[in-house]
Amino acid sequence: MSSVQIINNIDAMSPKTYKCVLVGDGGVGKSVYCTQLIHSKFVTKYIATLGVEVQILNVNARGNMIRFNIWDTAGQEKFGGLRDGYYVQADCAIVFFDLSSRVTFRNASQWLNDVKKYTNNIVLVGNKKDMKDINERKVTMEDVLKLTQGNIPYYEISCKTNESLTGPIDKLCEMLNVYQAQAQSTQDQSAQAAQAQSWGEYLYSFIG
Ligand code: GDP
Ligand code: MG
Repeated sequence: MSSVQIINNIDAMSPKTYKCVLVGDGGVGKSVYCTQLIHSKFVTKYIATLGVEVQILNVNARGNMIRFNIWDTAGQEKFGGLRDGYYVQADCAIVFFDLSSRVTFRNASQWLNDVKKYTNNIVLVGNKKDMKDINERKVTMEDVLKLTQGNIPYYEISCKTNESLTGPIDKLCEMLNVYQAQAQSTQDQSAQAAQAQSWGEYLYSFIG
C-alpha cells in the first residue's frame, strides 16, 4: 500500500518543494497522469499545445508535507530530446512508456540516459496497464528487467483505472529521503504527525 496521500493545499505550511520532470514519448500518458493525480480526472482528449506545464502536487508523506512541482511537456518530446532548461535542477524524474507500444519502451532507454545526466532519483513507469489483452500488451516484465537490471524502481500503472498511481510518488519520497529524515528525528516526527492530522481534519471539514 502506498504511504502518500494527495492533498488539496498546504500553502500555510511552506512545505519542502521538489522539482519532478516527466519524460517519455508523446502519447504514453504523461499529461493524463498529471491530471489524474492532481484533479482525479481521466482525460481522453489528446492535447499537444506548446510550452511547458508545471503543476503543483501536494502530498502528505507519512506526516511530512511535501510539494512536487511537476514539469510536463506540451508535446515537445515528439520532436526529439528535451532542452536542458527542462531538466536543470530537477530533483527527481518519472520516465514513462506505454505498455501497449513497443517503440515507446525502446525509446525509454534513451529517456533514461537523458534524465540520468541531471538526477539519480528516477522511477520508470509502464502506463496503460488496463490493456491486458495479449494483443494489446507489448512489453513483458522480462523486457523491463533487462532494461533496469533491477537498479531502477519500476511501476505498472493505469491512468484509466487509477491503478497504482501514487506508487511512483511514494517511491520518489523514499528516494528523496523524506522518510529517512523523519526517522532521524522522532520528536519532529510526532510533532509533524500531530500537525498533519489536524491539518487533515481541517481539510476534511471542507471536502468530507
Ligand atoms: P503524453 O503525450 O505522454 O502527455 O500523453 P497523454 O497524457 O496526452 O495521453 C495520450 C493518450 O493516451 C490519451 O488519449 C489518453 O486518454 C490515453 N491514456 C493515458 N493513460 C492511459 C491509460 O492508463 N490507459 C489507456 N487505455 N489510455 C490512456
Ligand atoms: Mg503531454
